[in-house]
Amino acid sequence: MTEVITTDAGDRYHATSDCWGLRAGQQGGEVLGFDIRGIRSTSISDAEAEGKKPCKVCIPD
Ligand SMILES: [Zn+2]
Repeated sequence: MTEVITTDAGDRYHATSDCWGLRAGQQGGEVLGFDIRGIRSTSISDAEAEGKKPCKVCIPD
């Protein structure tokens, strides 16, 4: 099963933790006071189950 990267605060999942979209989201979360340390790997199905959407930067259609 394909592993993806997601965060507790974000609403997207990513193919790589190097994605600038992920980093931008982290910075936004920090501004909003979210805990940005919640980066974790999970499966796409689990990420979808949490209501997260594929990142348009690193997971193109
Ligand atoms: Zn991404």
